[in-house]
Amino acid sequence: MKEVTFVNATSVDQAVSALGPGAAVYAGGTDIFGYMKAMVSPNAPDTLVNIQGITGLDYITEESGVLKIGAMTKLADIAASSVVQGSYTALAQAALKVATPELRNMGTIAGNICQLVRCWYYRGELNLFDCIRKGGALCYATLGDNRYNSIFGAEGGCVSVNPSDTAAALVALDASVVTSSRTIAIDDFFAFNVEKTTVLADDEMVTEIQVPTPAAGVKSAFVKFAIRKSFDFPVVNCAAAIGGGSARICLNAVSVNPLRVTGAEDAISGQAINEANAEAAASELPQTTVLPHNRYKIQLAKTMVKRAILGCA
Ligand SMILES: Cc1cc2nc3c(=O)[nH]c(=O)nc-3n(C[C@H](O)[C@H](O)[C@H](O)COP(=O)(O)OP(=O)(O)OC[C@H]3O[C@@H](n4cnc5c(N)ncnc54)[C@H](O)[C@@H]3O)c2cc1C
Repeated sequence: MKEVTFVNATSVDQAVSALGPGAAVYAGGTDIFGYMKAMVSPNAPDTLVNIQGITGLDYITEESGVLKIGAMTKLADIAASSVVQGSYTALAQAALKVATPELRNMGTIAGNICQLVRCWYYRGELNLFDCIRKGGALCYATLGDNRYNSIFGAEGGCVSVNPSDTAAALVALDASVVTSSRTIAIDDFFAFNVEKTTVLADDEMVTEIQVPTPAAGVKSAFVKFAIRKSFDFPVVNCAAAIGGGSARICLNAVSVNPLRVTGAEDAISGQAINEANAEAAASELPQTTVLPHNRYKIQLAKTMVKRAILGCA
């Protein structure tokens, strides 16, 4: 593994001042350590800023109509929270579906939404493929085995997918991401970037996730299809929050960034949630751009949208 400088931050200010080009946050470490150990990229950080020693970033509170979750809150705690299970069901369900108990006990909510992509060309050990996401010239997935890649085209030339389970739930629940310098609506948080899946600046870190308490009558649900149900990344996942005449539905693992399915949202808003309406709404996917090996994901995506809608009944 590349030799790195390890900075143990005890405050957000200290962490931010140690961040910058060539540095990255280390939270639970379940994603970034694998990336570092496999020597995936020539751009791997020289400095890891450990934020585990910052007190006050691990909490779940609900105040004045907003659920607040500290960046270092473990996925296991979110899944087990009766507050989250009650009014923010999709988020509790998504957190519970991430990986294994061990990973949920280490993995944090901020790490989950900031995690790097899993495209096996990007993740190839010893920088086997110097792909576009590392600043290279080619997207090898478009030419090779793209069974798990985007069915909605490329961004920045890359067809990897965002692999986060909680991202879909947070988009459906219209969350905001509070960082060391600003608050970002979740719809604006994800973006293609070299070595990044978010719009975060090099010297910026997530401190809190905020979720507005859904209006009375709104229900939410999260569903996931994975090859090995016990711990795998999603092949496709979907979260929906529906009620009171409105709907937000988000697919993930189907495109470079989490994808709002606005056609389905419009179709199900104000309608009864039943088999026929859910099926009709699920057929309203945006235009797909499939690759040679991933056409099957279209039907999976429709099924996930339908099941997420039915989960809100
Ligand atoms: C075998 C295996 C299976 C997995 N299965 C799933 C799955 O089914 N679903 C799923 O969603 N994920 C899965 N994961 C991915 C990962 O474990 C989770 O995403 C976890 O939540 C990452 O959190 P962490 O705190 O360990 O992040 P870390 O590894 O510490 O960090 C991950 C990334 O986020 C950045 N980061 C972390 N915290 C912050 C912050 N506060 N501000 C800014 N940037 C930050 C880091 O710099 C790094 O780039 C799996 C991982 C493994 C190894």
